[in-house]
Amino acid sequence: MAHDKIPKSHPRYKSLMIREKLVEGFRRGLVVPQGLIAHGRGEAFDYILGERTHWFALEAERAAVAALLLAERPVISVNGNYAALAAREIGELARLTGALVEVNLFHRTEDRVRRIYGHLKDHGVPNLMDPECEKTHIPGLESMRGIVCVEGLYKADVVLLAIEDGDRTEAFVAAGKAVAAIDLNPFSRTAQKATITIVDEAIRATRNMIAIARDLKGKSREELESIIRSYDNRRILSAAFKAMLDRLSYAVERGFL
Ligand code: ATP
Repeated sequence: MAHDKIPKSHPRYKSLMIREKLVEGFRRGLVVPQGLIAHGRGEAFDYILGERTHWFALEAERAAVAALLLAERPVISVNGNYAALAAREIGELARLTGALVEVNLFHRTEDRVRRIYGHLKDHGVPNLMDPECEKTHIPGLESMRGIVCVEGLYKADVVLLAIEDGDRTEAFVAAGKAVAAIDLNPFSRTAQKATITIVDEAIRATRNMIAIARDLKGKSREELESIIRSYDNRRILSAAFKAMLDRLSYAVERGFL
């Protein structure tokens, strides 16, 4: 069903519109076919979660914003899916936190980097790392998958990423960076390896983080540090699994949700 043909009254309107954004991103060369498959995996987990933000995601989103605000070199790492879904929101979050924005791709081609960069620019995203930046590799990822900008992700101390592959998340963590990861699947290696795991849908999560950043921007360093100190990622991951279990138990008992 094309973009303009989905009636607002359709019970799955929101989810279908999000799919349309990705398909459009695919047509424009921002999203790869593998990205469409990854989206399907995310949707399945979101269905189990009831397609809404839970308290454990909000807590992780708050810690992630505090970390970005405290960071010396915060960077938002953007791939094709994240750009196609949430370019405007990424821009607003970058503005509020002062984070740099770097296009960073698993299936990297310079053409796709430039297309995504153009898409972000068209949506008013500030602090964009130039595709012509000086490049290097993240240690442990010597292939095309590891290419990053020296003045961007390579030197970043805090990285926010979304819908990302586990190897790359692990390599960032191994390189000493604090990684906040938006990933609906708490089983994934990304979710398991990240410093702060946000089990929430990427658009919802980024919008929540914008609201949180507006609130936290006025807070002192001490207050932000205390948010990070009291944050426990294992507890957050357990809560995400528990929320899924509770929804499934309820469905098992009643035969519906
Ligand atoms: P890993 O390598 O971390 O074990 P994976 O093999 O599933 O995980 P990918 O195929 O790169 O990695 O998938 C990216 C992840 O992003 C998946 O876990 C998927 O659940 C999640 N995801 C997909 N779409 C969204 C979305 N819109 N918001 C949040 N998470 C999403």
